[in-house]
Amino acid sequence: MLEHIEVFRKKKIRATPQRLGVYKVLCRANKHLTAEQIYGKMKAEFPALSLATVYSILEFLKKSALVQQIRITFDKSCFEARCDQHHHFFCKRCKVIFDIDIPRCSALRKKEVDGFLIEELQGYFYGICRDCKNKVKDGRGD
Ligand SMILES: [Zn+2]
Ligand SMILES: [Zn+2]
Repeated sequence: MLEHIEVFRKKKIRATPQRLGVYKVLCRANKHLTAEQIYGKMKAEFPALSLATVYSILEFLKKSALVQQIRITFDKSCFEARCDQHHHFFCKRCKVIFDIDIPRCSALRKKEVDGFLIEELQGYFYGICRDCKNKVKDGRGD
């Protein structure tokens, strides 16, 4: 809890209990969660909290560069506390989002394509994850 407050202090953000709560849930989960999932994990501790508030806190934390939004699925965005630039893989079978390491492409090394300056890149990859692939191979797939 203390280290979370420290992160807020460094960014000069007021650490309200609800803001801290959202950030804590994301740090603890260490994976990609939807606003609904975050809300679900916070309800017990914050009975007065609404889903709309969770959304606006996420928007605020995003602007403060404390959380990152991932739009890998078309229906729902996910959020995570990891803010460095990295790519994502979505498993079409188990619907889980994974972080994947992919070497930087040449366009990114130059940071410019046809005169366009690239400031940010997030790759979204779709397929079958390792676990699901092994299940299919073993004939355990459903
Ligand atoms: Zn999978
Ligand atoms: Zn990620």
